[in-house]
This record gives sequence, C-alpha cells and structure tokens, in this order.
Amino acid sequence: MEDCIFCKIVKGEVPCKKIYEDEETLAFLDISPVAKGHTLVVPKKHVVTLVDIDEETLKKVIVVVKKLTIAANKYSEGVTVGQNNNRASGQVVDHVHFHIIPRTEGDGLDPWPRVHYVEGEAGKIAEEIKSLL
Ligand code: 5GP
Ligand code: ZN
Repeated sequence: MEDCIFCKIVKGEVPCKKIYEDEETLAFLDISPVAKGHTLVVPKKHVVTLVDIDEETLKKVIVVVKKLTIAANKYSEGVTVGQNNNRASGQVVDHVHFHIIPRTEGDGLDPWPRVHYVEGEAGKIAEEIKSLL
C-alpha cells in the first residue's frame, strides 16, 4: 500500500534496523521504543488489523513473534507481546504488527488499570462475547 510506512519499510524505501526477515515476515526495531530492543513483527503483505489477516500468514507471523520472544527473554527478565487493533486501542500504523517489548522488574511499564464487574455482569458479558464468536 502506497502511503503505508510499514509497506515502505518492507520495500526498503524507508530504512529500519532489521532483526529478521523471511518470505512473508519482517521484524525490525521500533523507532520510538518503549524499552531498548522493542521490536515490531509485521507480515510483508499489507493488512490493516488482526481481523483482516488470513490464517496462513498469521501462523507464519506468530511463529516469528515466538522466535523474537525467545531471543528477548535471553537479554531481559520478561517480555510483553502486544497487538493494537483500531484507534481506540492505540493503533497508529494501519499495517498489522506485533510489539515485542523486553521487560525488567520495576521498569514502570505496569499493566493496565483494572475495572470491576458488578454482580451478574461478568456472566452476561461472557455470554455476549461467546455469542459473537
Ligand atoms: P501502534 O501504536 O500502531 O500499535 O504502534 C506503531 C509503532 O510503530 C509505534 O510503536 C511507533 O513507534 C512505530 N513506528 C512508527 N513509525 C515507524 C517507523 O517509521 N519506523 C519504525 N521502525 N517504527 C515506527
Ligand atoms: Zn502496509
């Protein structure tokens, strides 16, 4: 896709610090890392969100996500794997990507704030989600 920054990186039109590449997948350092070593894994074909990616490609991408997670675990104390879908989630680049974020104890990247269910609400929400599968 012409205006997509990650497509430009895939095509070599925009430079990146490449970590891994195969026929379907590219992994490179995030330009504005949450932690040093923060890596993005993308399919080479332009797909906007996880909803749009075909399962064959996704399987290949997720295997690379695992590979990167194994590597990150060797130089950090833990790894967060993240994936944003749509603006409300924080997706800024409309080319599906997984974040591999190396973690250390007390790095301050603490988990999301939590909400609480009122009585009966969790059951209702579970049913609602199940009905959408
Ligand atoms: P999102 O918020 O869409 O899940 O994450 C997009 C990520 O892409 C951000 O972490 C951002 O720093 C990274 N990013 C945006 N533009 C570029 C770029 O030109 N090069 C690289 N390497 N990363 C980028
Ligand atoms: Zn793209």
